[in-house]
Amino acid sequence: MDAVKSRCTACGASLSNDEIGIYKKMVNRGATECMCIPCLAKKLGVTEGDLYERIEHFRRMGCTLFL
Ligand SMILES: [Zn+2]
Repeated sequence: MDAVKSRCTACGASLSNDEIGIYKKMVNRGATECMCIPCLAKKLGVTEGDLYERIEHFRRMGCTLFL
């Protein structure tokens, strides 16, 4: 986990654990460079709200990326 860069590769915003987690879930489990929610939503063609809902969903499932 320490190897993951904590800034968005698209806009440079600093990333929360949730943002890093959802990027791994949606894009690449082994990612070491991640994107913030707004940039990831744009990339995937979904809304930011969709991504926050998914984060909550995974958290409820007990996913360790979102503890
Ligand atoms: Zn960004």
